[in-house]
Amino acid sequence: MELRGDVERGDDDYPLCYLLILMQVESALLFETPAEICARVFQSLRPRTPVPDFEVSFKKFANATSTIRIRGDVIELKITDLLAEAPSPILEALAVILLSKLFRKPIPAHYNEQYRRYLNRHEVRQEITEIRQARGRKLIDPPAGRTYDLGELFDAMNAQFFSGAMARPTLGWSRQASRTILGHCDSAHNTIVLSRILDQPHVPRFVAEYVMYHEMLHLVHPVESRGSKRSIHPPVFRAAEKLFPRIKEAKAVIRQLCSRSSQRSLLF
Ligand SMILES: [Zn+2]
Repeated sequence: MELRGDVERGDDDYPLCYLLILMQVESALLFETPAEICARVFQSLRPRTPVPDFEVSFKKFANATSTIRIRGDVIELKITDLLAEAPSPILEALAVILLSKLFRKPIPAHYNEQYRRYLNRHEVRQEITEIRQARGRKLIDPPAGRTYDLGELFDAMNAQFFSGAMARPTLGWSRQASRTILGHCDSAHNTIVLSRILDQPHVPRFVAEYVMYHEMLHLVHPVESRGSKRSIHPPVFRAAEKLFPRIKEAKAVIRQLCSRSSQRSLLF
């Protein structure tokens, strides 16, 4: 069963990391895994049926496609990796849509609309285009920013977490102060780009360092593929990320920094 969105994707816009895109204010939902979200949705759709196991993987489809199927006792969802870091409410909307299709129930219009609006958002399209261009034509600004020097951030994280053993990749600030993509790592071009939004005096240094550390981990822990399954942030990545001492504080600041955009783009 398939669900298609409208976002165009090139063949080359992978791997890239959408860090904490538009985290929602609903903090109760923030740390649910995609499988937990599916289980919760299943329970609300079929309250009297025991909840099966869910296997959720993010997959590089040619377009914004997601699929669902029953395999033995397991319900398997393959979700476009475009949504790999989508906020929980969007994954929840997608779970409702796919499970409704699976059980031949009408899809509540509200979820359909919410999901499609997210995929079609002008901002997301524009940023994907920008990243593609930055990659192709190196449209990034030099590492020495107005507030932070990416070279210094990199060296500090390298010393703290990698015994200084990581070779410095190409580093740059994005030209646009993106609130939706705070950083991305392009291992094919050995480049780390941080959003200019982080290069401001009111953004604490440890927040910029956290985003840098996250992107550096992408160079160390590449996407894991097992068969058709891909994991952009495999368990070994998440475990390493937790070594960052002020990770919770950093995520809280990032949530605040991005909240204006959430309110604008994700009014449900
Ligand atoms: Zn990431």
